[in-house]
Amino acid sequence: MQQSVSLSASEPARHRVVVLGGGFGGLQAVRGGLQAVRKLRGAAVDVTLVDRQNFHLFQPLVYQVATGALSAAEVAAPLRAVLKRQANVRVVLAEVSGFDLERRQVVLDHLPNGRRGATLDYDTLVVAGGSQYSYFGHDDWRPRAPELKSLAGALDIRNRILTAFEAAEVEPDDERRRSWLTFVVVGGGPTGVEMAGQIAELARNSLRRDFRAIDTRSARVLLVETADRILTSFPASLSHKAERALEKLGVTPLVGHSVVDLGSDSVTIRSATGEVEDVGARTVIWAAGVAASPLAAALASAAGSQVDRAGRLTVTADITVPGHPEVFALGDMVRVVQSDGMVVALPGLAPVAMQEGRYVARVIRNRLSGDATEPFRYVDKGNLATIGRSKAVADVKGIRISGFPAWVTWLVVHLFYLVGFQNRLLVVTRWTFSFVTRGRGARLINVSRTETTNVQAAAEREPQPARPERRGVDAE
Ligand SMILES: Cc1cc2nc3c(=O)[nH]c(=O)nc-3n(C[C@H](O)[C@H](O)[C@H](O)COP(=O)(O)OP(=O)(O)OC[C@H]3O[C@@H](n4cnc5c(N)ncnc54)[C@H](O)[C@@H]3O)c2cc1C
Repeated sequence: MQQSVSLSASEPARHRVVVLGGGFGGLQAVRGGLQAVRKLRGAAVDVTLVDRQNFHLFQPLVYQVATGALSAAEVAAPLRAVLKRQANVRVVLAEVSGFDLERRQVVLDHLPNGRRGATLDYDTLVVAGGSQYSYFGHDDWRPRAPELKSLAGALDIRNRILTAFEAAEVEPDDERRRSWLTFVVVGGGPTGVEMAGQIAELARNSLRRDFRAIDTRSARVLLVETADRILTSFPASLSHKAERALEKLGVTPLVGHSVVDLGSDSVTIRSATGEVEDVGARTVIWAAGVAASPLAAALASAAGSQVDRAGRLTVTADITVPGHPEVFALGDMVRVVQSDGMVVALPGLAPVAMQEGRYVARVIRNRLSGDATEPFRYVDKGNLATIGRSKAVADVKGIRISGFPAWVTWLVVHLFYLVGFQNRLLVVTRWTFSFVTRGRGARLINVSRTETTNVQAAAEREPQPARPERRGVDAE
């Protein structure tokens, strides 16, 4: 039975804004503008931010956690700490599982006290649930090829990469050692490129002197991309530069290739000409194909509308759900109808979600003070992707840069947007240290000795990927 939880201390006269998702879009809606609502003459607003995790995750640096360059806490900021000075904002740790748009209620599950099916009332709702990786109908590949979307995923990947080197060190059989030292990254977008570059650096530099039986520099890193070039959201000239930079790092970009099957210790890859090859590889990382959060479909179904093939809900030019001006949806989970009627799928980037979040806050503020707001317009500030330790490509308002200057731009931009002064300081310190020493301070495998032994014993009996148990984020 559903029970309305009285999580907000709102008096009936106060406007209740519920924001779902404390990622880039949701947090901007709360921090970027709703704070100002409180200051409006006569307009009293209470904001409840709901997220299933108690931290804001800075996804652009998650791949550095997966390769031991940064530790988990450096790319995550506890939501309560971020919002502690906003007295009108409450944080609720819960999973959003449904909507009742008629009653203006959100259904919450997995509350920390074990409650399920509780409801939360709102006057204005902002939904910013983000996206997840799509395995193109092969959800069974998920355990074999973890994705890099969550902190848990990044720690799992870090465990697998580091365990692979450890396994190779004690593996007497040449072929099996080679498969432990072969890493396949699926998807040649910015995340795949960054991830492949980092694994290559790990093998070529950071781990070079740490092992005795293996030469980590012999590791193979294959970057598999179906399109005819990597980084398709960048101009072709930058894609080609990025490809060359990756090759210099020791990555083999396989453009025009697709992964067609995943075995327990191999990956089947088909080339553009149709040739199929089985590559012995224990570690596979998924960085291809993004689909909207299931919250988009749940919201669409509650509103009687549809989602597109990528699961995105279409919102109006003021970022509201059609027929429900009191419900905003934004970020990776939506497409936007422009003022000329065109439906656009803006890129799945943090600045898009952040600009939408700030815009939504402005609309709410204007509505409460009786003012109108112009339709949303996205301001494209450019595109950046880093390739290893000191190279990147950048396309900023038509100006194309690559190499070290692009990398410095990438560095400054990421530090600027990283949430929390302490995190910025820690990350700068770590990066400076790593830059000088080529070291990585967070190379920990989160498995007990017994688990490791079991994994290896199992591999001995029947070849299969190392799948150390997932641990909580703070198990670092
Ligand atoms: C590995 C990686 C690297 C990236 N690198 C870059 C980059 O370099 N530059 C860039 O601009 N963009 C980058 N992106 C994309 C960028 O992170 C996203 O575009 C951005 O996070 C979208 O913001 P959002 O608010 O829509 O969703 P998110 O930031 O993903 O936030 C969604 C929030 O909703 C919460 N949530 C979801 N479902 C529920 C539920 N049912 N109940 C409760 N809470 C829920 C989640 O916990 C999360 O906190 C990267 C993404 C990834 C995965």
